[in-house]
Amino acid sequence: MHLRNLQPSLPFFIKSLDQVDPAISRSVRSEEGRQQDQIELIAPKNYLSVASRQAVASMMAFTSVEGYPGRRYHAGVGNIDEIERIAIARARAMFNAGHANVQPHSGTQANQAIYFALLQLGDTVLSMELSAGGHLSHGQKSNLSGKWFKTVFYRTDTAGLIDYEDMQEQALQHRPKLIIVGGSSYPRTIEFEKVASIAKSVGAKVLADVAHFSGLIVGGQYSHPFPHVDIITTTTNKNLRGPRGGLILSRDADLGKLIDSAVFPGIQGGPLPEMITAKAVCFGEALDSEFSEYARHVLANARTIAAGLQKRGYEIVTGGTDTPLVMIDLRAKRVTGDIAQEALEAAGLTCNRNLVPYDPEKPNITSGLRIGTSAITTRGMKTEEADIIAGLLSDVLDKVVSGARGADASTPETLIAVKELSRSFPIYPH
Ligand SMILES: *Cc1c(COP(=O)(O)O)cnc(C)c1O
Repeated sequence: MHLRNLQPSLPFFIKSLDQVDPAISRSVRSEEGRQQDQIELIAPKNYLSVASRQAVASMMAFTSVEGYPGRRYHAGVGNIDEIERIAIARARAMFNAGHANVQPHSGTQANQAIYFALLQLGDTVLSMELSAGGHLSHGQKSNLSGKWFKTVFYRTDTAGLIDYEDMQEQALQHRPKLIIVGGSSYPRTIEFEKVASIAKSVGAKVLADVAHFSGLIVGGQYSHPFPHVDIITTTTNKNLRGPRGGLILSRDADLGKLIDSAVFPGIQGGPLPEMITAKAVCFGEALDSEFSEYARHVLANARTIAAGLQKRGYEIVTGGTDTPLVMIDLRAKRVTGDIAQEALEAAGLTCNRNLVPYDPEKPNITSGLRIGTSAITTRGMKTEEADIIAGLLSDVLDKVVSGARGADASTPETLIAVKELSRSFPIYPH
């Protein structure tokens, strides 16, 4: 046999993005510039290590599998089997878990799998409302979890803290099968032991959705949900500093079978092998002792920003934070979250408007802002820079409070300071 085909069959196949698709290429480059030049304070955002980025862009992306290592439905799976086994072992080690599933495409999928594994249609779930700090996938009306299951919400008090007495009362009254704690804008420690004893009194299981502080748990900066809760879900792309995706952990191995079959074939088909590969890499990074330093700085930076804003007269929900989240309550300042967000973006300080507890505004307006420190900490910023950022945020917000809108809320000094800060802390140093 003599075959010779050294040319690709499709000439476009080996051209660069620039050459093939200038419009998309331009936007990608512009986004690279935006990320480098702005101070990213959006709580879920973070950057991948070069190693994890290589994993995401690797040829693992072209592997197609279904099922679990050793029980796949396709041939050619030896490498992904080995990678997924490593990812699972590292995930279990990170959280001291009896079982781990690394396949959920996202945090919402991870939560959906738990609903599918533990509940029947119409069963009752006790969770925290979105405005109190919960998440859409915890039974919000607009989400499948809220449409197909009955949700009752426990209260947070006027300071924004979980009212455990209310949780107990609601549990006794409604007899939920599942209690969910954790959320997207709850900035404080959750008393997992208390929640577990409430759940026990009514025979419910407990799910801790730790998406916004999983990195702090692994880094030893936040109390560990195990052994108190039954299940942990998290995204891997927030302060675990990994690729976009979800992760499920259970304390006891015997729940693992239910969880695995709920993920596949329950709610997903094949997983994303390149994401599992990058998860394995980032879990390895999170198990390294350096990661607890990162977690420590994430928390210190959040507390520094909270204190700096307070000093300038801004109200912080719950008066501080035990997480990477700083929730600013703007009600006393008589400005809304949407307007503040727009002005801060024009200054190069990106964050998002967010409901605060008992918010009178709609979710697209809001009375608050949410700040997160995972991304700036990855860039190497420490409390000195966090303090500068608190000052810059206050400078812009002060202008907004006195009537300035959009770009008019930034002075030349603010813009220069943002530029200097972002130039001094490149995302990927050369
Ligand atoms: C971010 C987040 C999720 C998952 O979000 P996805 O966008 O689906 O990955 C789930 N729960 C909480 C509490 C979150 O903060």
